[in-house]
Amino acid sequence: MRERRIALLGIPYDEQSSYRKGSAKAPGLIREAWLSPSTNLYSEDGTLVDGHLVEDFGDLEFGGGDFVETAEQRVDEILKRGYRPLILGGDHSITYPVIKAFANHERPTILQIDAHPDLYDSYEGNRLSHACPFARIMENGLAKKLVQVGIRAITAPQRPQVSRFNVEVHEMASLKDDLELDIAGPLYISLDIDALDPAFAPGISHREPGGLSTRQVIRIIQSVRGDLIGADIVEFNPEVDVSGITGSLCAKLLKEIAARMSR
Ligand code: MN
Ligand code: MN
Repeated sequence: MRERRIALLGIPYDEQSSYRKGSAKAPGLIREAWLSPSTNLYSEDGTLVDGHLVEDFGDLEFGGGDFVETAEQRVDEILKRGYRPLILGGDHSITYPVIKAFANHERPTILQIDAHPDLYDSYEGNRLSHACPFARIMENGLAKKLVQVGIRAITAPQRPQVSRFNVEVHEMASLKDDLELDIAGPLYISLDIDALDPAFAPGISHREPGGLSTRQVIRIIQSVRGDLIGADIVEFNPEVDVSGITGSLCAKLLKEIAARMSR
């Protein structure tokens, strides 16, 4: 079997955060927590998630140019070299350019794990806000299907967007423990850390209680079907973390995602 190479890319960008910036500082801290001797490099299924399995491509550099274009090009290069990108955000706006790059190759099904649908057509007059990426993705036909899990904040302006884009939403209010997602083919996981309950993930900008447990998120990553061709971990905000709890959580989820990608 061809070895599945995974490329780790940081996108330290939080310019589209509507409330509180800080997630641009996440990639470095997630790497640090991943490689910290306070834990080990194994996922729960026994995969060694070290720098050999996950090659570190560093952080995206985007001086004065157009951010969306720069990020799309970088991810496109990585895909052309045959890698599966594992992206560390940054706020959730980064997912739009990332998926634009994927769509040049193959349109994935997206599993978005998030407290919020991020389907605003425009938020506070900004169409590139971190509250809008999935509207941009879906209106441009960049994904085969969008499946959302962990949602507990669908606002009135986003309701019609759910039907317009035929989004499959699994809200927290009715989430079953034995949730089985009907997903096949190329899969991209977009993991917004605020999907977890703030008790598990305090280091986020928008705390929305009543969320997923760490174990529920790990179970989804380990059990979801489909060919995992890419993923992102976004919205970790180290500036409001408590004792590094959310950094360690992101590192744990990085290992589980990488192991799932390598299978
Ligand atoms: Mn969110
Ligand atoms: Mn989000």
